Amino acid sequence: MWWATHVTHHSSEQYTLSVSFRLSWTQHLKIIFFIPIALMGFDPFVFFCANQVAVLYQFWIHTELINRMWAPIEYIFVTPSNHRVHHGRDDEYLDRNYGSSLIIWDRIFGTYTPEGHTPDYGILTPVGSYNPVYLVFHEWMEIWEDMKKYRSPRAWWRILFCSPSLKLDKEGFYGNARPLSDLPGLIMEWQENQKEQEEVAPAPAPLTA
Ligand SMILES: [Zn+2]
Ligand SMILES: [Zn+2]
Repeated sequence: MWWATHVTHHSSEQYTLSVSFRLSWTQHLKIIFFIPIALMGFDPFVFFCANQVAVLYQFWIHTELINRMWAPIEYIFVTPSNHRVHHGRDDEYLDRNYGSSLIIWDRIFGTYTPEGHTPDYGILTPVGSYNPVYLVFHEWMEIWEDMKKYRSPRAWWRILFCSPSLKLDKEGFYGNARPLSDLPGLIMEWQENQKEQEEVAPAPAPLTA
């Protein structure tokens, strides 16, 4: 689900400053992650300013015109070089360099990869569309299609909140989960089963006084 709010930013196959404005209409759902800040008592104005600084910072890093920077800067901050890796769909660049202002978080959590070759920008399944509505909602539609295939809340939870590369094993792990479209068939099977059971074990004769 969080990927669905962000995929629009990644579906560009070019890497230019304009990519920094290529953001999903649903991206603000992520505001729920900032609720603890409100609960801690920070003034909304302070939050707004800090957030704007963070968002503005992300503008200049979307360019191929700036090469690797001075090592201490590359070590601490998100830079054009290490953010290009974040936009790459090459195997070694997938799910790397998540930081948006500070790259030290990726160093701490082990998701940092320095830029080697020039990345192949984009997402694994190219969208092939310039329709803005499609660009914003295609991943949401896919989530909805996936959810329709299962009747298990556990499967829905995983589809919504696990990695976008999640593959649910329909037959194995969710053996009893059948597509919603199978429901009429399922009811018929159940009715037939009931009938068979009644035939095998007829109802006991009513008690006579
Ligand atoms: Zn970016
Ligand atoms: Zn991203």
